[in-house]
Amino acid sequence: MDGRTGEVSLKSNTNKLEQGNLKGIPASAGIAIGQALVIEPENIISPVMMIDKSYTNEEIEKLKSAIANLNEEFSEVFDRVQQESSNISAILETNLLIINDPILYKSIEDKITEGYTVESAISMEFDRQKNFFKYSKDEILRERAVELEHIKKRMLQNLRQHCFIYENARNKIVVAQSLTPTDLVNFRDVNVLAIITEVGGIASHVSILSRTFDIPAVIGVKDVAQLIKNDQTIIVDGFSGNLICNPKKSAIADFIKKRDELARHKELLGKLVKLPAETSDNKMIALRANVDRVADMQNAVMAGADGSGLVRTESLILALNHIPDEDEQLKWYKEIADIAYPAVVTIRAFDIGSDKYTEGIPHHEDNPALGFRGIRYLLSRTNLFKTQIKAVLKASVNKNLKFMLPMITNQKEVISAKSIIEECKAELRNEGIGFDKNIPIGIMIETPGAALTAHQLAPLVDFFSIGTNDLTQYTLASDRTNELVSDVYDAFHPAVLRLVKFAVDAANANNIPIGLCGELASHSAATVLLIGMGVSELSVAPSVILEMKDRIRKINYQDSLKIAESVLEMNNSSDILSVLEND
Ligand code: PEP
Ligand code: MG
Repeated sequence: MDGRTGEVSLKSNTNKLEQGNLKGIPASAGIAIGQALVIEPENIISPVMMIDKSYTNEEIEKLKSAIANLNEEFSEVFDRVQQESSNISAILETNLLIINDPILYKSIEDKITEGYTVESAISMEFDRQKNFFKYSKDEILRERAVELEHIKKRMLQNLRQHCFIYENARNKIVVAQSLTPTDLVNFRDVNVLAIITEVGGIASHVSILSRTFDIPAVIGVKDVAQLIKNDQTIIVDGFSGNLICNPKKSAIADFIKKRDELARHKELLGKLVKLPAETSDNKMIALRANVDRVADMQNAVMAGADGSGLVRTESLILALNHIPDEDEQLKWYKEIADIAYPAVVTIRAFDIGSDKYTEGIPHHEDNPALGFRGIRYLLSRTNLFKTQIKAVLKASVNKNLKFMLPMITNQKEVISAKSIIEECKAELRNEGIGFDKNIPIGIMIETPGAALTAHQLAPLVDFFSIGTNDLTQYTLASDRTNELVSDVYDAFHPAVLRLVKFAVDAANANNIPIGLCGELASHSAATVLLIGMGVSELSVAPSVILEMKDRIRKINYQDSLKIAESVLEMNNSSDILSVLEND
């Protein structure tokens, strides 16, 4: 480990922030308390310099040797992680591809042949490539510019034979302007407590790796490498993005308690968090979370959820007590999307009306559940709908959002909603604003009408999600909020299960994914039935993610198919439940 070459050098102890709080973007959840190791890239701007052409060969040899050294260093780390995970090695591989890019090499060599020094040639050619990507609207391409800058610096440092000893970071909190994925692997191996950086997006490779390695990380903290000094005590809160520098004893005690509680909790749930939600015979189930608050997404990620199958955006209205404007919505959606990244988050359009938010509903309704709610309300309030669509589109830049329409009953609603979405996309495009142009658009199957015509709706959309909470109330004509009819309200009623099956078959026939996000998804008796019926995604409350994972891992998929087949033949829910509960 000792003596690995790095892009970094230790910063001298001349600093300003004696005590106080800083705030950044929470990139990887967790809490760390410890001493800082401040790392700062040295100033390696290379002035453009020409050299006598008699040195050309010598300069080219220097270039080759810098590339060979970087190759050796990066390949060594790559080999080390290759066994661990294909995701991690794929990230490191992109760095190796840049180092060995023949076109880039040729352009640097040409510059040297023109008479530039090897340093100038590297700087000029890397910067030229970098500028292609730097202003891209696509965050992934902008990340490529960051990586080119990293590799350029590494090459220049290599030429100057500077090195960094990663061992110095053992059990410390690393504070840096920026880091490379290779740094992250090396820091993980010396047990760094946390990472704080000035640059980097939530989608950056460094953020992804810190989550993969379970290292708490806060990124985007302005000037942090200037403000914090070596050996200063820092509390890093990777949940909120808060940093407390030189904390008071009471704050340390509070955070130690919080940190230890977290550790105990994690230990208790043990390896389950990291294990996949797959059946004993390896059928993968996407286990997602239903989200009403930012904290739900954080908790779900902590529990190992695969993103969110339902974000109830009307919860934001309820929390704020007003309809949020585009910026308020964008901030909320982006925060949730970033916490889950790279996992996918399903944002559902406002399901206003009925038992939810009724402000703005123009008149009293005798039968609100059958009234002006969900997609019906949105299609008649296009300004409100368009504001939400634009906020969702803007938050989709990292391509990990889906958009879902509630309370669909017919094709016309889907076609109208999709045309409004297209209108919003065109407007954003005209303004030069980036978004995921292929954002998947799906619908809730929560009315009997939608379930029975699922085969007609499926060709229009990218995914289905079954909402059994409403599907049950509409199928059995029993108000989900009325305890007087709670005995009639029964998601195991054969009629409800048949409608679920209808929707599943239509989705499978049209090759679109189908999830289930109603409360039935987390009913202990339902898991085996739903999996056997062909539901491939279950979205449940964050608090039950681990329990669900445990249950899924005990199910045998082949057996579940038989169970579902026999259950679907049964005449009443008591027989169904007795079979499922005894399973
Ligand atoms: C449902 O109806 O099952 C559902 C998930 O939506 P909500 O509970 O928000 O109506
Ligand atoms: Mg519903």
